Amino acid sequence: MTDSDPRDLDAWLRSADPRRIPAGLIEKYAVRGPRYTSYPTAPHFGAVDLDELYGRWRERNALAEDPGLSLYLHIPFCRTLCRFCGCHTHIRRDPARATPYVHDLLAEMDFVGSIVERARPVRQVALGGGTPNFLLPADLERLLGGIEERWRIARDAELSAELDPRTVTREQLDIFLAHGFNRLSLGVQDFDPRVLEAVRRTQDGLQVEAVVDHLRSRGCMEINFDLIYGLPRQDEDTAASMAAKTLELGPTRIALYNYAHVPWLKPHQKKLEPLGLPDAALKAAIQGTVAEALIKGGYLPIGMDHFARPDDRLARAFFEGTLHRNFMGYTTGRGLDQLAFGASGISGVGSTYAQDDRTLEGWRDAVRSSRSALVRGFLLDPEDEMRRDLILDLFCNFAVDLSALSSRWGLDCPGLVEADLERLEPMIRDGLVREGDGRVEVTLEGRPFIRNVCMTFDRYLEQDPAERRYSRTL
Ligand code: SF4
Repeated sequence: MTDSDPRDLDAWLRSADPRRIPAGLIEKYAVRGPRYTSYPTAPHFGAVDLDELYGRWRERNALAEDPGLSLYLHIPFCRTLCRFCGCHTHIRRDPARATPYVHDLLAEMDFVGSIVERARPVRQVALGGGTPNFLLPADLERLLGGIEERWRIARDAELSAELDPRTVTREQLDIFLAHGFNRLSLGVQDFDPRVLEAVRRTQDGLQVEAVVDHLRSRGCMEINFDLIYGLPRQDEDTAASMAAKTLELGPTRIALYNYAHVPWLKPHQKKLEPLGLPDAALKAAIQGTVAEALIKGGYLPIGMDHFARPDDRLARAFFEGTLHRNFMGYTTGRGLDQLAFGASGISGVGSTYAQDDRTLEGWRDAVRSSRSALVRGFLLDPEDEMRRDLILDLFCNFAVDLSALSSRWGLDCPGLVEADLERLEPMIRDGLVREGDGRVEVTLEGRPFIRNVCMTFDRYLEQDPAERRYSRTL
């Protein structure tokens, strides 16, 4: 068992509890930095040569061993705006306003399906947003049926959707289930009425309970809760209640996100400031309280901010070494080519990233005129790909084998990251990282600093003119 093995829960409780982080370390490392849901990160995307990009996509059609596809559909509509929201979404009262959008999504699939071989196996489908259950039942039915008509969904595919428990209906849940959706994710955030009121997301714990009960009564056992810490009015007491209620409802997977306060990008977040945002020490206390309760309740800590029952696919992916991280956070299915559909969606196919137009109008005009909706992206060179693997290994496993990376990419990995390893020295001295014998390993005490560790290996970060693009690492 290594220091980074999530099965060593006693060690986690002894050493990785963020409540034990010395204040000096919090001050030293609470800088702004990326969450590495891609590498290079999205702020570094720019204009790309579409012929080159689609050429690289076509090459993937002929791979001897096809890793398969992951489809992501972005539904950028919500009924009301939560004050902490950092997503690409638009507020609409009338769900019928999204009917043309569904039509356009299917048209975009037809366009992309002329480039990417449709016979490639689809191993994941995810609907995110915004709020996928903003769609009218008839639109949802049309969309899910349209995906099945266009792509070859593998028998054991993971089909998931993010749901708003305040608004999802039984009819919508049954449509998802009838189309084989086997993992549903509820945006819970917190159960405390005062916290929910502060962030303008009033929701009754009973609503969450009713959705969970309905899903279970229909045989859907893989249920995810999204929780968030770092909001006004949260403290150790609300954290204990959040954990207790979560344990009572028993989802198989939990994402406990650190609220990203970036009001220069999302001005509506400013409204949270007068209510008092917890500082880094209180955030660590809140996170530690929830994490400890979940671990004692039988959940394994996975990566930076997830927890899973040992039989959940995410835990299995961790043990099989296929845990992945992308724009949806930690997921299963490392190596899949991700195709994103919808305004602002980001695809990651082989050595490319590409993002659709973020404006609804620009995206719609491109799709309706059978043009590519991609407006920016990144073409990775072999060193980028190697660094991406390095950062992924650290984020997913808290350890990386530099020699294995050298063999995989045919590059001298230790040589290329020599200067980065030197810059790790302060973190090694602080006991956050160990380095030697061609391995870099984040210690249990270093886990809360994983973003800082990965920033050391990011060869674009120093060129970043706008540190304020990112949220605080702690
Ligand atoms: S439901 Fe989600 S996407 Fe919609 S406003 Fe709230 S946080 Fe943002």
